[in-house]
Amino acid sequence: MRADVAKWMVSLVTPCILAWLACMAVAQAMPLPQRQTIAITEVTVIDVEHGRSMGPRTVLVDDGRIVAIVAPHDANIPAPARRVDGRGRFLIPGLVDMHVHLFNLSSRRPPNDWSFPLYVANGVTGVREMRGDAASMLLVKRWRKALDDGELAAPRILAAGIAVYGSSPEDAAHQVDAAADAGADFIKVFSEIPASHWRAVLAAAQARSLPVVGHAPAGVPLLVTAEAGQRSNEHLMQAYEACSSIEAPLLEERRGLVGDALTARRDAQEARTLAAFDLGICRNVAKVIAGTGQVQVPTLVLADEDSLAKNGSPRSDPRWRYLRADEHTRWERFLSGYTAEDAALAKRRWPIAHQIVSVMHQAGVPIMAGTDSPMPGVYPGFALHDEMEMLVESGLTPREALYSATLEPARFLGMADTRGTVEVGKRADLVLLDADPTKDIHNARRINAVLLDGRLLRRADLDALLDEAAKAQAR
Ligand SMILES: [Zn+2]
Repeated sequence: MRADVAKWMVSLVTPCILAWLACMAVAQAMPLPQRQTIAITEVTVIDVEHGRSMGPRTVLVDDGRIVAIVAPHDANIPAPARRVDGRGRFLIPGLVDMHVHLFNLSSRRPPNDWSFPLYVANGVTGVREMRGDAASMLLVKRWRKALDDGELAAPRILAAGIAVYGSSPEDAAHQVDAAADAGADFIKVFSEIPASHWRAVLAAAQARSLPVVGHAPAGVPLLVTAEAGQRSNEHLMQAYEACSSIEAPLLEERRGLVGDALTARRDAQEARTLAAFDLGICRNVAKVIAGTGQVQVPTLVLADEDSLAKNGSPRSDPRWRYLRADEHTRWERFLSGYTAEDAALAKRRWPIAHQIVSVMHQAGVPIMAGTDSPMPGVYPGFALHDEMEMLVESGLTPREALYSATLEPARFLGMADTRGTVEVGKRADLVLLDADPTKDIHNARRINAVLLDGRLLRRADLDALLDEAAKAQAR
């Protein structure tokens, strides 16, 4: 089975469908602290762009923004400021997960606002929501406002999109217009979309100045998607084919197929695709993709799902208690359907995924950290750290892995003037660490405090947030 829509569409109808408002209430159970003037004193500031560590510095935050970064003896700290001891600590920009799911449209379950505290407690202060609809866009607006008002401990939804398929190319173009009118920040495409519809989506989206992102369609070579202007490609879709010596015949065998028949054929080809992996071809492909600017969101943590199957029941995982009941059911159902064949294929896919990321990174293809949370085995918030660690295993330096989860997303989203680095004038979405993440990316888990839009959450607050999240699921 392939890391793909078919899996997260595992449908499940729960009696909790009517609980949208109740779920909002749960998420709001713990409001955020007031915004205040905060001075983080004598801290080492990590420059994710140039790889420098600057220290010690005193970082002053006021009204949700960074207003000064100065040498400690130059610091003019206002008397009422809340002081945070930064000595021996490291300050990084808030982390961004570029591939999450907050809505369950196919299964009609309530939205995944249960996951909000998990993101915040892990230093994830921003997310890109990958599949909503018109109604979802209204809820996204409410969440953004609730975060602004300090009523919701949640990451900022930096972008939210609507998926388009269409019954014809014309219909696909109409759907793009409807999505634009509904306030979507981008159009998402899935593997199943016919090539002709996909081209109509690209044209219509361009007319509305909306980026097209998502899965490179299963009937279209990766290079074609990059050259045609699909801005991001998720899960290394079509990259395995592009990096094989048999891409043309594979695509030829898919000709004329659309929808589930198309992805079923692709999945049936996967063992052959992996067996034909060719490093030289992959290097050439990566070079061309680098020239197009298409960004890859490999979601390695998803490709690593075989480890989940190996570990047996996920119930023993200490993070299991944070999941909502319907997610427990969905994850267990997924695992019970996971065959030895699936595991064997995942095992072969895994080293190739690493190699593709490594080759792309070396060629200069931008890589962004994303997780596909909450796919089975992918714990919201925690998984972004898994992903950064896997990116390091694929050859990125720890600094580059941080970049892929901070400034690269900010640039991709056109928000680099206000986000993505620790600099004066930027939003105070910050993470204070007890150890240096540029020495060892695992240190990004050692979170001492999170500043969420200028609101300070100390370790004890973050633990309380997690406890509250677990209690909410136990009720
Ligand atoms: Zn996804």
